[in-house]
Amino acid sequence: MFDDSYLSHWQVAAPELVKRGMIATFYINPGKAEYQKFASHWEDELWRQGMVYADHTMTHQGFADLDGAEHEIGDCADIIRRIVPGPERRLLSFGKPGLGPGHWNISAEDFAALLRRHDLIDRPTFDKHGAVYHLQSSEQMLALADRAIATQGMEYLIIHGVERIGPNVKWQDFWALKQDVFLPLLDGLQQRQAQRQLWITDHISQHQYETERDSAELRVRSAEDGTLRVELTCQADPLLYRLPLTLLTELPSTWREALVTQGDREKRVAVTDRLIRYDAIPGGGTIVVRPIG
Ligand SMILES: [Zn+2]
Repeated sequence: MFDDSYLSHWQVAAPELVKRGMIATFYINPGKAEYQKFASHWEDELWRQGMVYADHTMTHQGFADLDGAEHEIGDCADIIRRIVPGPERRLLSFGKPGLGPGHWNISAEDFAALLRRHDLIDRPTFDKHGAVYHLQSSEQMLALADRAIATQGMEYLIIHGVERIGPNVKWQDFWALKQDVFLPLLDGLQQRQAQRQLWITDHISQHQYETERDSAELRVRSAEDGTLRVELTCQADPLLYRLPLTLLTELPSTWREALVTQGDREKRVAVTDRLIRYDAIPGGGTIVVRPIG
């Protein structure tokens, strides 16, 4: 997660992520001067590279009342949904900016209602997850990834600036993470992803996957005439939660390859140790599995 729309995000972070086939979530402030001065990078560039935007409020200055909150939080969400093509109703991640006392004058109930109204999902806390602030070395940061792998859970790191290097660089972004820490961190993450230990994704995809998986139900409707029919459902709102889950299905030992269809999706899958691994959408229609050959 990258906070505050810094220059180093499009100058350093995004290009280094792209080189490694990785993405991140960028918590942007479309009302900040440095965002507006370089708006074309946010409007035309980063999301096309697969980067995901999240709501960090318009100006990062807080607000005095509920009307101010609606503008700071709601307008930022509207701008992201205008910049990035997609369905009108879709989830966005929200990250509350760090603010001094008196700059967040709404109740917890009003805040929760505001998030719900704008289809926003609050991200996990900054506590113990801030680069430079809490964690300094690539080893400490990679230990988070290793903990996610060990627990089959989720971990995250919140980064502000990344060190800018070059003849014309006169200043650094806030809490700039040194490149000799940042680049080995990315390499370490890429390595774990290549070994298929780690899924590197954005906050909303992780949230959707976990929400769907935790309430998913799988029923075998029929298994006859060499065809398996399976029903996958979950409790989450199908309008906002349509990310495919990964399924493992055990098949007869004679099967070498299977054809998996769901709706108009169709895929050939190799059988390994009697198992196939494939993606399916909860509530996306009956999954049909047939042998090939
Ligand atoms: Zn911030």
